[in-house]
Amino acid sequence: MTNLGEGEMHRTCDQCQAVGPVGSAKFMMNIGLLVAHFEQTRSGQFCSGCLWKNFWSYTFGNLILGPWGVKSFFIMPMFFFANITELLSGRQMLKRQIAELPPPR
Ligand SMILES: [Zn+2]
Repeated sequence: MTNLGEGEMHRTCDQCQAVGPVGSAKFMMNIGLLVAHFEQTRSGQFCSGCLWKNFWSYTFGNLILGPWGVKSFFIMPMFFFANITELLSGRQMLKRQIAELPPPR
């Protein structure tokens, strides 16, 4: 990573376009339809609010739409835990950026 100069934090959230610290994450949802299943993913750089929003909507999606089908029954838990990992690593990235910010004056 290149060293950005002081105050050169031009990071924006991919979802709400807010400027500030962002964490990258990739959330996955399984939609089981008994005989078929669909996967939906959303990846990008998200601010803290959008990180949580995406996490919850994908978690609920997995729990409600996910486990319907033989294959889906096994895929859904994998996505479920992968999303938790993504949330945590995104949060870590956010925290690092907040720590790197120059103190307000
Ligand atoms: Zn956002």
